[in-house]
Amino acid sequence: MHDVIIVGGGPVGLMLALELSLANVDPLVLEGSAAIDPTIKAGSLNGPAADTLRRRGVEFAAAAPGGAPRFIGHVAGMPIRADRVRWERLEGSSDTAFVSQQQIQELAEERLAERGVEVRRGIRVMEVVPHDDRVSVVTDAGKLEASWVVGADGGRSLVRKSAGFAFPGLDGIMTGYQMLVQGTGLDDIPIGWHTTATGVFRRMPNNLILTAEFDGAPADRSAQITLDDLTGAIRRVTGVDATVTAALSATRFTDNTRVVDSYRRGRVLLAGDAAHVHPPFGGQGLSLGMLDATALGWRLAGVIGGRLPERVFDDYERERRPEAERILEWSRAQVALMRTDERSRAAGRLVRSLMETPDGATEVARVVAGGVVSYAAGDSPIGTFAADWAGADADGGSLFDVAADGFAVLAHRRNAEPPASLDGRVRAFATDDGPAPFVLVRPDGVIAWAGAEASGDEFAQALSGLGLVTALHAVPTR
Ligand SMILES: Cc1cc2nc3c(=O)[nH]c(=O)nc-3n(C[C@H](O)[C@H](O)[C@H](O)COP(=O)(O)OP(=O)(O)OC[C@H]3O[C@@H](n4cnc5c(N)ncnc54)[C@H](O)[C@@H]3O)c2cc1C
Repeated sequence: MHDVIIVGGGPVGLMLALELSLANVDPLVLEGSAAIDPTIKAGSLNGPAADTLRRRGVEFAAAAPGGAPRFIGHVAGMPIRADRVRWERLEGSSDTAFVSQQQIQELAEERLAERGVEVRRGIRVMEVVPHDDRVSVVTDAGKLEASWVVGADGGRSLVRKSAGFAFPGLDGIMTGYQMLVQGTGLDDIPIGWHTTATGVFRRMPNNLILTAEFDGAPADRSAQITLDDLTGAIRRVTGVDATVTAALSATRFTDNTRVVDSYRRGRVLLAGDAAHVHPPFGGQGLSLGMLDATALGWRLAGVIGGRLPERVFDDYERERRPEAERILEWSRAQVALMRTDERSRAAGRLVRSLMETPDGATEVARVVAGGVVSYAAGDSPIGTFAADWAGADADGGSLFDVAADGFAVLAHRRNAEPPASLDGRVRAFATDDGPAPFVLVRPDGVIAWAGAEASGDEFAQALSGLGLVTALHAVPTR
């Protein structure tokens, strides 16, 4: 009997496994593929999602190419103009990062191997059967039992379907391809994002090409992608008479937007694309999943360790569902703006003109960079993400250094003494940064409590919400 089986060794499943392992839980990861899927998909993380890795000691190059202080991308194929963004207004929010999902998987697998956590590859889960006290996981290599199962098995999640989650939302109206290709005539396709009478496309200098057509979802999303499919999409959308002769990577997508009715059913939980799907415009899916993983990790570890009640899974959903719904809304708006009918194009032109203004450019940059991700109610610092505060002692490291092995952190001013008997899973950290003399930071980087004195009921309650003593910390509703 395993404490927890994670179905799916994609970036979200592996990140969750790492978070659990850091919290002294030994998960088993079951992954259907024999090796990491090299198909090009996500290549960037928004600020808070990049911080989930920085907090675990991963370093990224600081600036984005082209002189912009950070990667900000596009809205509905309309590039955000870095020269219009008022960067000073985004100060204090975390830097985005260029990182592929395969790099994240490699990194997480390496760390998991060091920690002795098993990622069992080439095992396909066929069914999950929930019971009151456990979940049976039926695989093509036999049956396993676990106290908890997390479905991190992507947008077509078997776990979600098998455990009976509903997945309401909108069907797709478009067909997109992202491909890295070789062929003839490709150089005649202009570089960058373009809207034509038949769709939207983007070409990068290395012939990474994205096409989007708005005349219906793919008839069969599982059908093998052929060179003819790719050639046809390029010709129809760009109008260029190119021919694809080889595809180094190709993926087909649509714009169905859905979020599960509940993030938990009994002993089965969902995270990442298994819980929410949306089109990739604006590059937010991986970020959403990485933050699901870190929000769930310490809670699931606390429940398994008997330090937290199962009610904390309600808090997981209360925090993460609004984020998923926000991204669904954002991506639906982008598809509406990308459609090729005259009314949609007029709306697109209007939004483009707003994005040319400093206020407009700054606002969309804030959203794409993840500067709006927060669980806070009102102006309270509680529920916001702690930045990488500098240590007061030159050799003491920064907040992320101190938090690197999954501990909660009690940050305090250098002249404010932390309580002598902190729980074993809270590290004290002297800093001149932060919103209050004492700030309790969760293992996922979220501020759980801030105050003038690290004592009294409220402080004890905040500790308990992290599974460090016994009562419960309530997450504010928005
Ligand atoms: C073209 C494209 C571009 C994108 N660009 C971006 C971007 O720039 N930024 C961004 O943030 N996001 C982007 N995304 C979205 C991003 O790729 C996903 O959100 C991300 O992969 C989700 O990770 P995941 O771990 O939840 O799911 P997945 O990556 O889908 O991983 C699920 C894993 O589960 C395994 N699995 C599935 N079923 C089973 C089973 N029955 N048994 C065992 N294993 C199973 C699969 O093999 C897979 O390894 C893009 C997506 C696409 C398609």
